[in-house]
Formats: sequence, structure tokens, C-alpha cells
Amino acid sequence: MAFDIDMIKKVYANMTERVDAARDIVGKPLTLSEKILYSHLWDGRPTKAFTRGKDYVDFAPDRVACQDATAQMALLQFMQAGKPKVAVPTTVHCDHLIQAKDGAATDLKNANNTSSEVFNFLESVSNKYGIGFWKPGAGIIHQVVLENYAFPGGMMIGTDSHTVNAGGLGMVAIGVGGADAVDVMAGMAWELKFPKLIGVRLTGKLSGWTAPKDVILKVAEILTVKGGTGAIVEYFGPGALSMSCTGKGTICNMGAEIGATTSTFGYDDSMERYLRATDREDVADAANKIKDYLTADAEVYENPEQYFDQVIDINLSELGPLLNGPFTPDLSTTVGKEMTEKAQANDWPMQVEWGLIGSCTNSSYEDLSRASSIAQQALDKGLKTKAEFGINPGSEQVRYTAERDGILQVFEKLDAKIFTNACGPCIGQWARYSDPKNAPKNSIVHSFNRNFAKRADGNPNTHAFVASPEITAAIAIAGRLDFNPMTDTLINENGEEVMLDEPTGWELPPKGFEVKENGYLEPVEDGSGVEISVNPTSERLQLLTPFEPIGDSIKGAKLLIKAFGKCTTDHISMAGPWLRFRGHLDNIANNTLIGAVNAFNKKTNFVKNQLTGEYGGVPDTQRDYKKAGVWSVVVGDHNYGEGSSREHAAMQPRHLGVAAVIVKSFARIHETNLKKQGMLGLTFANEADYDLIQEDDTFNFLDLHEFAPDKQLNVEVVHADGSKDVIALNHTYNNAQIEWYKEGSALNLIKKQNA
Ligand code: SF4
Repeated sequence: MAFDIDMIKKVYANMTERVDAARDIVGKPLTLSEKILYSHLWDGRPTKAFTRGKDYVDFAPDRVACQDATAQMALLQFMQAGKPKVAVPTTVHCDHLIQAKDGAATDLKNANNTSSEVFNFLESVSNKYGIGFWKPGAGIIHQVVLENYAFPGGMMIGTDSHTVNAGGLGMVAIGVGGADAVDVMAGMAWELKFPKLIGVRLTGKLSGWTAPKDVILKVAEILTVKGGTGAIVEYFGPGALSMSCTGKGTICNMGAEIGATTSTFGYDDSMERYLRATDREDVADAANKIKDYLTADAEVYENPEQYFDQVIDINLSELGPLLNGPFTPDLSTTVGKEMTEKAQANDWPMQVEWGLIGSCTNSSYEDLSRASSIAQQALDKGLKTKAEFGINPGSEQVRYTAERDGILQVFEKLDAKIFTNACGPCIGQWARYSDPKNAPKNSIVHSFNRNFAKRADGNPNTHAFVASPEITAAIAIAGRLDFNPMTDTLINENGEEVMLDEPTGWELPPKGFEVKENGYLEPVEDGSGVEISVNPTSERLQLLTPFEPIGDSIKGAKLLIKAFGKCTTDHISMAGPWLRFRGHLDNIANNTLIGAVNAFNKKTNFVKNQLTGEYGGVPDTQRDYKKAGVWSVVVGDHNYGEGSSREHAAMQPRHLGVAAVIVKSFARIHETNLKKQGMLGLTFANEADYDLIQEDDTFNFLDLHEFAPDKQLNVEVVHADGSKDVIALNHTYNNAQIEWYKEGSALNLIKKQNA
């Protein structure tokens, strides 16, 4: 599905009318973020003003994008909805399942061998349901989206946290869980708490060694990894206008690292240039006609403090190159003296072993060309690179053009490995070590976004620092963390002292973009005849069976686990090696709650099986209950299910036969996911009742047949000694969500409505 200009024109037609209506209702000038939000309300024309950070609002996104790891369960669920086609333009991108090892040609072949059944499945489901499919090697989801689908003023959701990258082209683009994507693909509304707004005023101009990446590294330092939570970050000011569109993408991309809902920039000349360079003249023409609607009202940028919840000022002329890390993206250090001191004080390995350039954050033509200008100097000045280079181009279009223009060859002359146009080391798909757990302490520098322990290579002792592509190149050449290219010299092969000059490059390829085979497959017009085959013995894929309703009489349910303290979606459904089972519900269910701490013995994955009296793993115990036809209950503490929007954390317990999760409080997305899977997500009316729950408890729900909005439920808890407590439980189900419960899941209801 190529971009749909008619859809974009319709969005713009709605936008003018709806933004004008919203401005009247809100009663003041609007930020860009508000314009996009108010013009994408599910109910159409705005009729009321929403309170930021408080009101939950239904939206109608224009597009959906999925990557191969998360798309598996999303599409398996969508197949349950009984729809012939997706309701909004959707694409699937194969980029996460390709390991970087020897270089693109061999690595891609290996990935196609190892994951062919997953790729074939995604391709055939895409073909059947009208979804655009980007083959392995076509590129990284967010670079491909920026090149092909993002448009100013649009709203998009994607099953990946760095969906926010599309803010570089003036979108409100938000990362969501698969269940949310399925709702939108199935033609339902998408709910979001109306975000708070953070304005970042950029003055001055980037120069020399400083790059757009340094802007977001600075913002991360200011706001920290949590500072953007629940907010849209809107960048504006003369500094914003002076940056390239892909540079803006870099800044928005790493908004995920400060927890922001998303980030965005107003439409400007750089976006118009990018749209025209990527063959979207008609989108640029359409955007030009409603330019005023694609930026904030003028008064907002004149007096931002009046219109944003928080305003941050950054003068680009004063900003220097930064290195953020190790182990967290918000620990900023200025290149040079400050790094020397910090590295010595903290015992960070000074020698740098790898410089990696790529990931969805920094893999544009501009990024590669600027980094290659540094690499070229190493060749010209007789420098031997001290660290190894690895390059992941963002898309086949970028790769092909960069090769045509001799950019990749510069890196190759430095013995760089040109990996596949895919995520590779950014998501741990990097065969760097045979035994990463016991690998030595070392430092690497990369232009990616995340640098948590083990993220790139599985080695807990790798100190990963995040930097711009040009600084990554310079540090890789020098092989030292404390190298300052602005002041330090290097000794070349002739024993001479040489310095690196400032990077140069092209915002866009001077001879235009070019690609032979972009890796895109358009779905057939009528997919009704497309067969989807999943091998019943596959360990990676399993077709879903609709969940049976739990019903209004839950009696004799056993306590599966009373979780103590933090219980995130990672504790409920671990990642790491389990990622390979993301498309196989029964197999991945073998990790259910194995990270949760049992409140009675403070151990993980060690609970009492009430049927046998013996202790065992959570999944095995639960499978025993299921076999015996006994429902079970999970009890938890505060903010249960925080972390990610991963729907597996709700689907797995549901699949194994957990009927209810009763906690002190929920992370909202997880609570909604439980509701969508037709389970009970309930909270103690009196938090102290958590303490009443004992290891051998049995639960009888007393009034589930009267399940109604705003009405407490009561459960009788029978203890081992025969004593009983009746506990009042709160819930937040509305009428529609109670229907989900009654039907067994939200998807069952959609299917029924379709029928
Ligand atoms: Fe995620 Fe890295 Fe891939 Fe970007 S390149 S989508 S951050 S794994």
C-alpha cells in the first residue's frame, strides 16, 4: 500500500474545520499537538475541551505500522476479528529478526532460513488482509515509515516504542501494544489519556561537530528517563527550522528514552524538501495549502509559557557534542575533558572496541554522509581505525543511494562490516560473542537510542555510549572514549600528528534517492482466496483459538500467586530468549509470571500447588489447575503490570486459566489489556485486604452475575483453616468492557458484531 494521497487530503480537509472548532471551544490559541489531537477525535468535530493529563479520549489514527516481532501476535489477534481487510492503512516491517554477524549478504540469508516461517506467515496475512509488507532487508520500520508514509499533521500508532520517530515529519505518532493496534486495524477507536505538553524552544544553530542527536541527548539529561511521561514534546523556534527533517526524526525518535508519549515538530521547509526528495510532491503540495494548521498558532510560540505545561530552552549555538551512558540514555557527558574525568572516576573502560552507526535513530542518508566524511579523513590522513566499525543503513533506499554515491565504500575501506538494513545490534541481534554472559568489560559507542545493560550484545559488562554518527565515527577511529576531535590530535601511520576536520555531508542526496528493489510487497486487491498456513508443530507460531467466556459464576478458584512488590509486564511475560515465542501463545505461556516474587517465600517462580501441596513453577502449577478445570486468581501489589503495553502479559494468564487479577492498583494499559482478553482486573477497595490473602486461599465470587459499571464486586476468600473473609473489590469496567468480559474477549465481540 503506497501512501494514500486521498486519505491525506481528507485528513487535511477535516483538520481545517476541526482545528477552528477546537480553538473556539478551548478558547485560546492551539499548539501543534493540540491541533493534531483535536482533528483526530473518534467522534469527529470537537464538542468539548479536554483536560491534559486527565481525560481519556477516543482517537481515530490515520495509519498503523507493525514490526515483525510484535506483528506476530497482533496479526494473530486481528485474524480473530473476522474482518476481510484492515480498516486503516497498515504496514508490516521485517527488521527485528535479522542477526548481524558477517555482513548483509550472509546475515540476511541466515535470517531468511531461521525465521522463514515467521516471515512467510506475516507476508501471507498481510496479503490477505490488505496490509503493505516490507520484506526482511527492506529497512528499519521507522526509517521506512519516514520515507514513505509519515505526513505532517497525521496521527499514527505503531507496535514499537520508536514509532515516535515520525514526529520528524510533523506527525503525532505513538508506540502502542498489539492489542491497541488490532483495535484500530479492526475499525475501533483508540483510547489515550489527553497528554500534557512540553515545549522545547530551540534557538541558535547547530555547527561544527554538534548534531541533532546532541539536542535529544541534552533533553534526556534535562528531563531524565521519566521526565516526558504522559506528555507530548513539541519542538519549535529558529533552531528547529534550521535542522533537516531526518535530524528532527532523530530527536523525536529518542523521545521514547525520556518516556514521552511522542514528540513532534511544526511543518517547515525541511519537511517540504524531504517530502519532495522522497517522491511525495503531492503530499508537499497538499501540506503547503494548510501550512498554518500544521504548526502551532503564532501566539503559542511567542509566549510558550502560557500554552505548554513546561518549557525548556536550548541554544543550539552553545550546545556541544555529548556522549550519553553507560547503561542509561540520560547520563550525559561532554566529549573531551569531562569524559576523561568521569571515565577515570567511574572506571569506565577507556578503550573503545566498536563504533556502530545505524538503528532507526540515526541511519538516514545525512547521517551516513556526515559520518563517512570523518571516515574519509582517516583514509586521507593515513589513520588506522582503532575500533571496529559496524554500519546498519536505515533502508534499502538509503543503502542503495549511499552505495551509488560511494559513501558505504568509504567505510568498507576501513574494514567496516555493512550489516543488513535492519535493527541488528540495536536489539541485541548481534553475534558478537559466543558466550556473552562471561564476556569481558569493554566500551562501545553507537548512534542508537538505547544503551541498557546487555542491549546490544548480551554482555552485561559492555559499557555502551550513545552519540551522533559523526562523533561515533571519530571515537571509533581514535579508539578512545575520552577523544575530543575538536582539540585532540591522532598519530598517523607516518608518525605524524593529525587532526580530524569538522564533519560535512548532505541533508539529501545531491543526485536524488534511488533504489532498484525496495523490498515492498503490495497486497492483492481481494485477499479472500489467500490461504494462511501455520504448521501445527511449529514452535514459533500458533493460530489463536477464541477464549471461552469465564462466565458469571467463579467458585473455588485457587490462589496462583500473591505477587510481592514490583510486578511489571517483564515479570509477567519476560523478554530475552522468550522473544522467539512471541507468535506462539502456548509456548510463551511457559514464562508466565516467572519473574514475580511470591509474597509467602520471597522466591520467584516457586509457588504452592494447592492440588498437590507441593511447590513448583508458576506455569506448571497453573497448568495443573487448568487440567483440573479449576480457575485461579493472581493477587498483586501497586502499579501491577507497569512497563510495556505487551498484550502477552494479559493473554498468557488468560490462556492458562487465570480468571481474575486482584491488586492494590494497576498500570492502566495492562488493566485495559486484561479487560480486552475477557478477564477480571479488580482492585482491593481496602488496600489492607491484600494482607488477608493467604497461601492456601480459595476464592468464591459472590455477585458476578450483577457485574455493572460503578458497582463493587465481592469475593469470599476461604482460608485453609475454614475461616472466611468477604472482600470488596473495585473495578473500572464500563458497559462495553463488561460486554467484552461476557463474550470472552473484545475480539469475540467484534467478531460477533461483524457476523
Ligand atoms: Fe527498535 Fe532499535 Fe529497531 Fe529502532 S533500530 S526499531 S530502536 S530495535
